[in-house]
Amino acid sequence: MDRTLILVKPDAFARGLTGEIIARFERKGLRIIALRHMTLARDLAETHYAEHSERPFFGELVDFITSGPLVAMVLEGPEAVRAARQVIGATNPLEAAPGSIRGDLAIEMGANMVHGSDSPESAACAPRTSRRSSGARPSS
Ligand code: ATP
Ligand code: MG
Repeated sequence: MDRTLILVKPDAFARGLTGEIIARFERKGLRIIALRHMTLARDLAETHYAEHSERPFFGELVDFITSGPLVAMVLEGPEAVRAARQVIGATNPLEAAPGSIRGDLAIEMGANMVHGSDSPESAACAPRTSRRSSGARPSS
């Protein structure tokens, strides 16, 4: 069994689509083993997206992911990383297949609804990250 970190990003949470998104992962056959409603602190967001720190859109990416509450969860299942990314769809919602979350529910690259780990190694950091109390604050 593999694990993957999923973030229902602030755009999806604000649109009231958290339940719809969770249902899609559950229907795929992935099981929720941890789930938390939170707002990411800036330092944790910068760590989360560290691989993109040199890219021109890094500042906007961090602004966006810290802009409001989100739902973070760890899903478990066979090939969980690949399975979740298939459910999520391509990074650009206009290139994501119909039937995927981004293909069905989003238009803009900067507001693409969901994050999914891109490797089992990055997913392995997730439970530690989500337990780091200094990096997260409860949201009301
Ligand atoms: P995520 O990591 O959020 O699940 P992803 O793995 O599909 O998305 P990444 O390449 O890791 O895509 O990019 C992280 C995020 O950065 C994307 O979700 C998108 O919002 C933003 N992004 C990626 N490429 C670009 C780009 N060329 N221009 C603007 N924003 C981008
Ligand atoms: Mg990524």
